[in-house]
Amino acid sequence: MKRALLLTLGCKLNQAETAQLAARLAQNGVELIGTSDGGEKVDLVFINTCAVTARAEAKSRHLLAKVARQYPEAVVIAAGCASKYNPTIKLNWLNIQFLNAVGGIDNWLNSDLNKQFNDLIGSDKNHFEQVSYKSTSYHRARPLVKIQDGCDHFCSFCIIPHLRGSTMRSQPIDEILTEARCLTDNGFEEINLTGVRIGAWGKDLTPRQTLFDLCQALIKIPQLRRIRLGSIEPWELDARLLELTVEGDKVAPHLHIPLQHTSAPVLKAMHRPVVEDELILLKSIRKRNPNLALGIDVIAGFPAETEADFERLFNDLKNLPITYLHVFGFSARRGTPAYTQVNQNSARIIKERARKLRELGAAKRAMFYNSQIGRTVWAVPDSATASRAWTTAVSENYLKLKMHCSKTLKGRALKCEVSYENGNYIGVIK
Ligand code: SF4
Repeated sequence: MKRALLLTLGCKLNQAETAQLAARLAQNGVELIGTSDGGEKVDLVFINTCAVTARAEAKSRHLLAKVARQYPEAVVIAAGCASKYNPTIKLNWLNIQFLNAVGGIDNWLNSDLNKQFNDLIGSDKNHFEQVSYKSTSYHRARPLVKIQDGCDHFCSFCIIPHLRGSTMRSQPIDEILTEARCLTDNGFEEINLTGVRIGAWGKDLTPRQTLFDLCQALIKIPQLRRIRLGSIEPWELDARLLELTVEGDKVAPHLHIPLQHTSAPVLKAMHRPVVEDELILLKSIRKRNPNLALGIDVIAGFPAETEADFERLFNDLKNLPITYLHVFGFSARRGTPAYTQVNQNSARIIKERARKLRELGAAKRAMFYNSQIGRTVWAVPDSATASRAWTTAVSENYLKLKMHCSKTLKGRALKCEVSYENGNYIGVIK
């Protein structure tokens, strides 16, 4: 039996795609190993790379070099955004002869890759072909379901449309429903919808559909207890969809919004619409359901950002009832307009503004967690095994709890009470 190690960097979409590949390989008789310690025999190492920031790209490069040293006999394949983004890096990797194939995401499952893999391992099988439905060997307790790819918006800082394509590609509803049913048949109670722009799901389908339509269809699957939405661009918030998150019944009371900024001049420079109405909308949503998790992505130190713009952003976020904040210090990506934009902020300013925002985020997060102590929530433990007494678990409103469960079932939600002990938020099973 051939053995493969699959590693992923970057976003949830990357994780979902690696999981699809893992399922295909497993169904085709390839044994998947779960660590990267080196030592054991491995035939294939597949790394799904990331290039969203310079740091992510550097991490991808280091990981490739590390596994190539650890597994000198293996076929090492780099796929994903970093392998597509930087041809010089590709060349370097090829020159030192540990990369036997480079493929962007669209090339993963092509016959060339299979032929190259087979030539190297002496096989004649199609290891990348889909045998039965793809989700059955997901290892995550809360599986990711890819529903969309591509983006046609071209924000001035973003490299994604150049790497994943600017054509919007929605998975047809029947395929998503089949995958969701397959997951529930295998005992999973929560699915996480993921994509580059899930708020635009369905707009390229005929007839045109919306994410609300998709959620309505998923809600009808009886064993599916929870549908969690991935990030939704502010201009794609749909009132009917928001209603489902406020109710928090099957659609998890959890919104993740890549706001990026709130100051109009900065948003204009980012090629993004203003967000004043959306800020009012989000405040009203949280007022109606104070237990709803509201996560926000922001970029600190964008080139056009003045001190006044930053103050505006900071105060708007302070006044917004967010429950967690993801802060990205601006990282210029070659090939985007922001890369050559004048008025770049210094690294020191970017770092300092990011630090202030992260402090604000930490304070907001603590406030939200403290407000949840004593509440009853349903949390899905991350560990699917019976051997670990302590595991982490994620509640419907995205509380990350420690949970003591010596025996549980993969993917099942457990009723628990939130408590706080010795610096940890605990889910005490009821
Ligand atoms: S909408 Fe999102 S994925 Fe599309 S260009 Fe803007 S930041 Fe990138």
